[in-house]
Amino acid sequence: MSTSLALEAARRRTFAIISHPDAGKTTLTENLLLAGGAIRAAGAVRARGQARRTQSDWMKIERERGISVSASVMTFDHDGLMFNLLDTPGHEDFSEDTYRTLTAADAAIMVLDAAKGIEPQTLKLFEVCRLRDIPIITFINKMDREAQDPFELLDEVSSKLALDPAPLYWPAGSGGRFKGMLDLRGQKFIPYAKKSSTDEEGHPDPVALKSNAVVQYLDPEELAEVEEGAMLVSEAAKPFDVQSFLEGHMTPVFFGSALRHFGVNELLAGIGSYAPPPHPAKVSKAGVDTHVAPGDGEVSGFVFKVQANMDPNHRDRIAFLRLTSGRFTRGMKLKAQNTGKAMSVNAPIMFFASDRELAEDAFAGDVIGIPNHGVLRVGDSLSETGTLRFAGLPNFAPEILRRVRVKDPLKAKHLKKALEGLAEEGVTQLFRPMIGSSDFIVGAVGQLQFEVMADRLANEYALDCIFEAAPYAEARWVNGERADVEDFTNKHRSAMAHDIDEQPVFLGKSSWEIGYVAERYPKVRFERTKERG
Ligand code: GDP
Repeated sequence: MSTSLALEAARRRTFAIISHPDAGKTTLTENLLLAGGAIRAAGAVRARGQARRTQSDWMKIERERGISVSASVMTFDHDGLMFNLLDTPGHEDFSEDTYRTLTAADAAIMVLDAAKGIEPQTLKLFEVCRLRDIPIITFINKMDREAQDPFELLDEVSSKLALDPAPLYWPAGSGGRFKGMLDLRGQKFIPYAKKSSTDEEGHPDPVALKSNAVVQYLDPEELAEVEEGAMLVSEAAKPFDVQSFLEGHMTPVFFGSALRHFGVNELLAGIGSYAPPPHPAKVSKAGVDTHVAPGDGEVSGFVFKVQANMDPNHRDRIAFLRLTSGRFTRGMKLKAQNTGKAMSVNAPIMFFASDRELAEDAFAGDVIGIPNHGVLRVGDSLSETGTLRFAGLPNFAPEILRRVRVKDPLKAKHLKKALEGLAEEGVTQLFRPMIGSSDFIVGAVGQLQFEVMADRLANEYALDCIFEAAPYAEARWVNGERADVEDFTNKHRSAMAHDIDEQPVFLGKSSWEIGYVAERYPKVRFERTKERG
């Protein structure tokens, strides 16, 4: 293990933001980049989105629906730390994509709308974080609007998420009466001035709570109120304990207004202080379970996302590789564990907020984009020796199945290629029935995935397609001893398909039917998730 590698890794903070749509994830992203000095003016995130949209037609759907459907990463260097912010799609139909992105994050910021508290999508995303033991920092946003009582919000975190909230700040009012917040550990008051984030001046400097300066910002009644709240909460809430946070039992709570750039600097400092650097990752090496530490010499990582056609002029795909150890340098050769193929990574991309840049070197915790022509897939493990295998990223059994046909039958071959491409990216899943090979069955977790697929088939592949109801309702991966799987497959060939990796899949007409066959074939497993690799 090398000290300089370990030190580089230790200054990485790789995190994602989770929230219900409209809670302010985009606004907070932008303001974190602003606080981190990565962009100079607010509006740049959207502007960047616009530029990309003009390059790539399929983003039209994103614009029309006003939702974000593609995950990306933004990197910025601030205060001696390297922050990697992973953007997760907010819409529930993309939970599979989000799930995969969260596998690459070491911490998550949970944004709550102060008026709404915990919303359905917050809860779902939280469950994913808990499943993956990702520590969570809470940001209660939109304090400049009429908010719920902060005690109620904390209570909701505690009761709905079974997480101990530990506020580090305490707000003085909300909405029109929002005056700022107390720093509960520093005995300081941080005044809020109603300004936009583009305003050069920003908010007034913090003042000592016991100083005369406080009266400029709070009248005696307001001061008494915020002090009483702070006293009550310090009695009621457990004090912040970093260990408990890292173990997923506690969440530090920040308050602010992303739109007004208030509380964002404090949040960023909190991420720097408390969010963990990359930790050792579980791998199997030549079949033996072990760990790779961020300071280990061998470069390794896993692909958690593949995005195609970011630039329609080049039919390239970008595989997003989360590094887990070593020092990656441009031009380096990495080997894929599953195929043993080596590839020279000559044009890696790091996604700095302002622009894409070629990455010269990168360390554990960083994410690099590797342009390739479909060789790299989600879940692939890359390393110098090609012997390391990270636990695969799961695919989930689709909840909606459709049969796809192209209107022009001469284009059937093109359709096959396009569907395979989209399945490799993880946009939708593809199943080819074992009998009747001209059929393509596609599966998705949510309806919106089909809309994205139809849009991309039309714009990127010039294919006009029809989606028909499929005679199946559920899909399960079939696993077990080879003889048992073959026996089952032979007896149910008309309901069997292959997925993109040639794995056998049973297509059931109903969940009742799946239960029925599972009972009759106890040696065969009918699985809802599949790990690649
Ligand atoms: P996302 O869907 O979570 O990415 O949410 P956005 O960042 O797009 O924000 C949704 C809406 O809430 C937009 O109209 C924002 O301008 C607004 N918004 C975000 N943060 C704040 C805030 O702190 N205060 C107020 N008043 N509005 C906000």
